[in-house]
Amino acid sequence: MPIATVNPATGETLRTFDPIGPEETERRLSTAYATFRTYRTTSFEERAALLGRAADLLDKDAEEIGRTITEEMGKPLAQARAEAAKCAKAMRWYAAHAEELLADEHPAQADVRDSGADRARVVYRPLGVVLAVMPWNFPLWQVVRFAAPALMAGNTGLLKHASNVPQTALYLEDLFRRAGFPEGCFQTLLVGSGAIEGILRDRRVAAATLTGSEPAGRAVASVAGDEIKKTVLELGGSDPFVVMPSADLAGAAKTAVTARVQNTGQSCIAAKRFIVHEDVYDAFAALFTDAMRALTVGDPLDEGTDVGPLSSEQGRADLEELVDDAVRHGAAVLCGGRRPPGRDAGWFYEPTVLAGITGSMRIHREETFGPVATLYRVADVDEAVAVANDTSFGLSSNVWTRDAGETERFTRDLEAGGVFFNGMTASHPALPFGGVKRSGYGRELAGHGIREFMNATTVWYG
Ligand code: NDP
Repeated sequence: MPIATVNPATGETLRTFDPIGPEETERRLSTAYATFRTYRTTSFEERAALLGRAADLLDKDAEEIGRTITEEMGKPLAQARAEAAKCAKAMRWYAAHAEELLADEHPAQADVRDSGADRARVVYRPLGVVLAVMPWNFPLWQVVRFAAPALMAGNTGLLKHASNVPQTALYLEDLFRRAGFPEGCFQTLLVGSGAIEGILRDRRVAAATLTGSEPAGRAVASVAGDEIKKTVLELGGSDPFVVMPSADLAGAAKTAVTARVQNTGQSCIAAKRFIVHEDVYDAFAALFTDAMRALTVGDPLDEGTDVGPLSSEQGRADLEELVDDAVRHGAAVLCGGRRPPGRDAGWFYEPTVLAGITGSMRIHREETFGPVATLYRVADVDEAVAVANDTSFGLSSNVWTRDAGETERFTRDLEAGGVFFNGMTASHPALPFGGVKRSGYGRELAGHGIREFMNATTVWYG
């Protein structure tokens, strides 16, 4: 895949970049490693000052970098600006909280005395150079969600960003440099995915984090496994959005639309399967379909646009295949199901709602990375749980109910890294984020995220 900015709204190639070669890769690796040796000894206060400066710069740059993001991967501009603001907030959160999240732990003396210890403690020490393989869908946020805790912890980062967002990748390196981080704390490697194995096998790289597809996760995790290096994987999702009879239906339908089409539907935590109790199915389906049909598809630079183009021609082709397969197997198209008529340039697709989904359809099993929703009718809470769990993914989940018993039941039984009631899944710096099953392992954000790339060291005093 060439490293290039190709505008998804027009299909036009705007800039291409040569990948860096082995010599430059080596120079960057050795800088990352050398910097780690000293950066790890800096104080939380120093790191927080640097990260706070990065947050201020990012706030100032929001409009400009927002336009770059929209140009590179096609999300509506307002959402790109909001992404920049969210990143600045996460940086400030980690700047304020890292020290307390990584504070030494002191087991009760009575508990450790029979180990022969006079006392003992656990200290969190940084692991070293962490390789981050990141996707294009939230090209700032996916990176900052790794970088903010990693830099506060004293690790250094090497970013291999998706090949279609090179300008955003270079912007990030520049942002941390301008904030004053020592050279080598955070570097972008403009390389194709073929270069990843060699970098990951290098003894100076301690660990890797990847957000992206299952095949990419598998490739990186198997090399890391071979090298016995820690990984965190955040892969796809096919999150359920369950609506039970006690739900506020209007609220559920409104939120369902946002949960499905945010980022033009290209989000791992987007709600993708809408599982509705039969008592409210018809009413919910009507409200939801009307609202999906009413969305404005168009130029992502227009402030009135709700849904932009898909990020790539391949992304749209993949989505079309899933919809066509479902229709061939008997799914009903309640709205959309095609490219917007009259829009020939760019990789647009209409917001789509499909009903009558069965297990024989690929769309039942695979992730829909675009504005396509599937509807399921269920008879009771047992069937809702069964359909929700009938997927190889387990990232997050959403449930609309006012029934306390149902709330407990879904909390106990949904196989996912999150259960969001009467709202939609969203990431927040103070809440751990990640999945189970084929959605990956490990957690990002909160204390869980910052501790993933630490050496929890037992210190024992005889
Ligand atoms: P990929 O998983 O291919 O890309 C994500 C990152 O992984 C990119 O930096 C990519 O680099 C890199 N990568 C890809 N293959 C390898 C490999 N074998 N070894 C090392 N690194 C690799 O995502 P796509 O853009 O191809 O999207 C395909 C599907 O993945 C989507 O339709 C969606 O289902 C899922 N996806 C999920 C995301 C999420 O947020 N969980 C985000 C993006 C995609 P390069 O760009 O150079 O190939």
